[in-house]
Amino acid sequence: MFNLAAAMSLVLCVATAVQWARSYWVSESCYRDDGTRGYEVRAGQGSVSFSTIVRKVARTSGTKWGFHRQSPVYPLLGGDGRVWHMRYQSETFRFSGIILPYALIVAPLSILPVAWLLVGRRARRRTAAGRCHACGYDLRASPDRCPECGTPNEPAPPSDQERPERVAASTDRAASPSR
Ligand SMILES: [Zn+2]
Repeated sequence: MFNLAAAMSLVLCVATAVQWARSYWVSESCYRDDGTRGYEVRAGQGSVSFSTIVRKVARTSGTKWGFHRQSPVYPLLGGDGRVWHMRYQSETFRFSGIILPYALIVAPLSILPVAWLLVGRRARRRTAAGRCHACGYDLRASPDRCPECGTPNEPAPPSDQERPERVAASTDRAASPSR
């Protein structure tokens, strides 16, 4: 469950980071408008905006979808690395929008993948040191099962032991006393 959430979070994080980088080269927007309500997402210069418009008198042109791309980048209103919220109301329509710097979206999305990476590294380090990968208890006296938390002490899969970083680490240890 944690792995799945971390993987999904990683995919979203990378996809958003790619959009973030693109936003410095091209401005892109896409919208949907059914005559009464319109929604738009717009990206440019490291920020992304989400806005809605609600009309009191509907247009009769039917539902429209649109996508616009423009290069070089035109300034996104408020796209200066700050969060902006805009509201505007007139006799015929109501507009509301928020502008977010991409960093504020990417940073929270990176929390799970980074935590997953750190937990995995800690577990591998503990296993390599002859300790329980779950709680870190010394397993030299009880190699089969951790007496502290009950976790079975499974040997690391072969592919894990062949990881280059692990080979490099053991080579370092073997080489260092002779230096
Ligand atoms: Zn344990």
